[in-house]
Order: sequence, then structure tokens, then C-alpha cells
Amino acid sequence: MEEISKIKKFAKINSVPIMKDEGIDFICDYIVKNNVKSILEIGTGIGYSSIRFARAKDDVFVSTIEFDIERYHEAVKNIADNNLMDRILVYLGDAASFTFDRMFDLIFIDGPKAQYQKFFEHFQDNLSENGVFISDNLSFHGMVADLSLTHNYSTKKLVKKIQKYVAFFKENQEFHTDFFETGDGISVSKKNN
Ligand code: SAH
Ligand code: MG
Repeated sequence: MEEISKIKKFAKINSVPIMKDEGIDFICDYIVKNNVKSILEIGTGIGYSSIRFARAKDDVFVSTIEFDIERYHEAVKNIADNNLMDRILVYLGDAASFTFDRMFDLIFIDGPKAQYQKFFEHFQDNLSENGVFISDNLSFHGMVADLSLTHNYSTKKLVKKIQKYVAFFKENQEFHTDFFETGDGISVSKKNN
């Protein structure tokens, strides 16, 4: 796990967001329990979460998309250092510009918080039978439950978007969503059969 702590340290020094321990453990546990084999991730960062997912089980294959070229390069380097090039594929660009003609058991949305619903709709047809959407940061440091925690205009706007996303899933008839306080707030949305 020495490689993993190096990535965490790099993330801290360079202010790169990575999933909280609790959140990542929760998803890895889900991967193992539900025999997840294919993952699509929106928002690679520097590859921390994809490496953790791939390490959860040795038949997991991750496709992950990152917008920022520097983070993309750092992610590719970290994945190579972890000998996971054959199981993690990093795409460079805006996730909205990608379409896939294959299915994924887990679609993990951890990119631009204001656009979660757009990505959910964009990749909805790529969810395999019994597949799930998992979204991160739905609590957004507690601000989603208590908007008065911030006075920053753009943060407020973003938090309102997340509140709308949560409401969208609560009302959605096609998907059933469970919300967890774990980490920075995680939702697991499964299509009703
Ligand atoms: N999943 C990572 C952290 C990702 S942070 C981990 O836990 O290790 C969110 C990332 O989404 C940022 O690196 C940001 O550059 C990227 N991002 C933002 N908008 C994006 C978009 N439209 N398409 C793809 N990636 C995007
Ligand atoms: Mg996140």
C-alpha cells in the first residue's frame, strides 16, 4: 500500500480532491459484495479511486474520464506505477463528449458537482442489468443539509444544484436511491425492475 499513500500525499500537497477513506471503503465493499466487474468513472482526478476500485477485486475493469490534462498525466503515471494499465483505461476530455457502446455494472459520478444530473442522463443507457449509479459529495461538507454554512455565492449555487440532484433521485420513479452519510455523502441508485 506504499504507492497508495504516496498518491494520497500528493493529493494533499497539490489540493487534488480524492475520495474520503470511508467513502472509498464503502464502494470497494459494494464492488466485492455485488461482484462488480466493469466501472465507468466520471472524474479521475489523479487516479486514486480507480486504483482502489481495481484493487478491490482482480477482475474489475475501470474506464475513467478526466478533463484536466495535468491530472490526466498524473493519473496515467500512478496507474502505471501500480501495474494496473491493463485494467484501468483513462480517457482525456469532457465526460459529456464521450459515448460508450458497452455496459457498466457501476457508474461512479465524481466530476463536476453542478452537472451530476446531466451525466446521469447521458450515461443512463450504459447501465447493465442490476447496475448502479453511485454519486459522491452529496453532503458537500454538510452544506447540502445546512446552506447557512456558506456565504459564498458560487458555493451556494453549487450546493443548490446538489440539493436539486438529491430531490431528482428522491422523486425518480424509475430508479430507487439509497442515501448514505458515509464519507462526504454517497448515493446508490438502482433501476427498478
Ligand atoms: N475520483 C477521484 C477524484 C475526482 S475529483 C478520486 O476520488 O480519486 C473530480 C475530478 O473531475 C477533477 O479532477 C476534475 O478535473 C474532473 N472533472 C471536472 N469536470 C469534468 C468533466 N466535465 N469531465 C471529466 N472530468 C471532469
Ligand atoms: Mg468526490
